[in-house]
Amino acid sequence: MKTELCSFCLKSGILCSSCRSKLKSGEISEIDLKIAQTLFSLEKTYPSLQDIYFHKAVEANRVLAIVVGKGDVARLLSYGGKILRELGKKVGKRIRVLENGVDDRKFLEDLFAPLSIITINKIWIPDDTTQTRVILRKTRRQSPLINVEALKKIAKELRGITIRVEFAD
Ligand SMILES: [Zn+2]
Repeated sequence: MKTELCSFCLKSGILCSSCRSKLKSGEISEIDLKIAQTLFSLEKTYPSLQDIYFHKAVEANRVLAIVVGKGDVARLLSYGGKILRELGKKVGKRIRVLENGVDDRKFLEDLFAPLSIITINKIWIPDDTTQTRVILRKTRRQSPLINVEALKKIAKELRGITIRVEFAD
């Protein structure tokens, strides 16, 4: 697996001075470190993890979003989703996988999957800020995997966008 951390630190769990300063400056967070090491520990069982670029991880409520390289989602979902199940068990959270360097639409589609998005549009608020309105297709039963409040926080933290979620037929 590739990350901002060097492979020495990933393997040893002890941070070199370069990685330590990245942690200090906030370039890497404590969560990034924890998730990178957890994913690394799964590499032996799931070799396709070796090819994945792990960018960062963000937690909100009981949801953990991990951002990986473009095209890496399929690799993470290989082995019938076992990697994500194991990661979820280890960290005690539900996992969302997002891709780095994609546009807002793709980001939101991945964030809200398996729900489908009908429309995304920008709304201007009187205080001169904008919100991104996401209209999702109403499902008969609310998916237990979707925690709207947590996903809003994740969108804010990763993309700086304020989301308003609505459901429609
Ligand atoms: Zn290092």
